[in-house]
Amino acid sequence: MPKPKDQSARNIELPPVKFEAAGDSQEERDYNLQLVEPSPGFPTLMLMVADVVIRHVDTAVFDFTPKAVAIRYLIDGVWHKMPPMDRESGDFMLATLKQLCGLNYRERRQRQEGACKALYFEKKFNLKVISQGVPTGERVGIYLESKKPPMESLEDLGMRAKMREQLLPLLNSPSGLVVVTALPNEGYSTLWRAVLGGCDRFLRDHYVLEPQGQGEKEVINFHPVAYNPAAGETPQSLLPELLLREPHVLAFAELSDGNLLNEICRLAKSVPLLTLTRIYSRHAIEAVPRLLALKPDPKSLAENLTAIVSMRLVRKLCEYCKQPYQPAPQVLAKLGIPPNRVQKFFRPLPFQPGKLDEEGNEIPPCDVCQGLGYVGRTGVCELLQLTPALREALQTNPRVDHLTRVAEEGGHISMRDEAVVLVAKGITSLEELQRVFSK
Ligand SMILES: [Zn+2]
Repeated sequence: MPKPKDQSARNIELPPVKFEAAGDSQEERDYNLQLVEPSPGFPTLMLMVADVVIRHVDTAVFDFTPKAVAIRYLIDGVWHKMPPMDRESGDFMLATLKQLCGLNYRERRQRQEGACKALYFEKKFNLKVISQGVPTGERVGIYLESKKPPMESLEDLGMRAKMREQLLPLLNSPSGLVVVTALPNEGYSTLWRAVLGGCDRFLRDHYVLEPQGQGEKEVINFHPVAYNPAAGETPQSLLPELLLREPHVLAFAELSDGNLLNEICRLAKSVPLLTLTRIYSRHAIEAVPRLLALKPDPKSLAENLTAIVSMRLVRKLCEYCKQPYQPAPQVLAKLGIPPNRVQKFFRPLPFQPGKLDEEGNEIPPCDVCQGLGYVGRTGVCELLQLTPALREALQTNPRVDHLTRVAEEGGHISMRDEAVVLVAKGITSLEELQRVFSK
């Protein structure tokens, strides 16, 4: 490869990033790494990897256009535009990265996919790289996968102890139907896995029915049973054989239609068998009309549905730089918080470039959140238990506003009120709730 004109990356102190190249054997991986270490893009790649790790980036997208490389980072579910990189540095960095991942660095049009590993201090990451030619040039996505998913259990998701105490008996009940709901790409899989994980999987037999190739991570001790929709297989076609195994829990990962929902309701009632399924919606009550839109028998659904568990993700304020303020009385009133209950809320302190301290030095961004004001996410969880009044409403007037009123009369805490608790505790900000709940 030619040498870059700009060697500036070599003149600054480099972060201690170590790589493991792609390869079938340790020997091959070592060899592939040695090949790229002297390359001119290597220092830039080290700086880039350190940057995405420090900033807790989940996905980084590099758009190579004729003049520059535009950079976007996805951090805790929000896209951030970063300063662009010059095209030459970007080209050298990309060539190095592609070689580390076992890809052809000369190929800039065809889609390529590969991976390598990076170690930065104690943190080990899998860097999955996808490159693809686009009309404006080339687009490269880098997906950072750390070894352990950060949220595994209901507690990890941020479900409060009292809610877990209410939910766990329902998940370990000998019958009933528990529906899990969230928005796609916003905790849908995570919540599903955590709820399945809440079942006592060591004493009972659990199965999860899912379409082939769905590619979700397995839940320990839940036996996966795959069906192939392309070959005309359905969850129902697998049931006769599956029921001979006398399962205690059947989880249906995909709710395709009302017939399947009717079958699930029948199972929830006819056998001492707990059933679970899931559907997209923004909160627990909204899941009811969405279930009914599949046209199941409303009476059977009303009789057998035990509970709906729902979650949305909000970003957590950075503990090191969050700023306290006194909320206005009208704001507290609007949120339904009694006066004098909460003395202060917190808001993020975003980095302000050019802002100077008393001595005239620029105030650097916070070390922990890199000036974003937020680090990590937590779930706002909601548990709707079906009361007799709600079962009645589900059959007679299943509109969200009516269901909400009936639920509140029965003491249900809405997702919005659960979220307000997180603001009152200083875990997240009012601005963040507005951002998330406006979706
Ligand atoms: Zn901070």
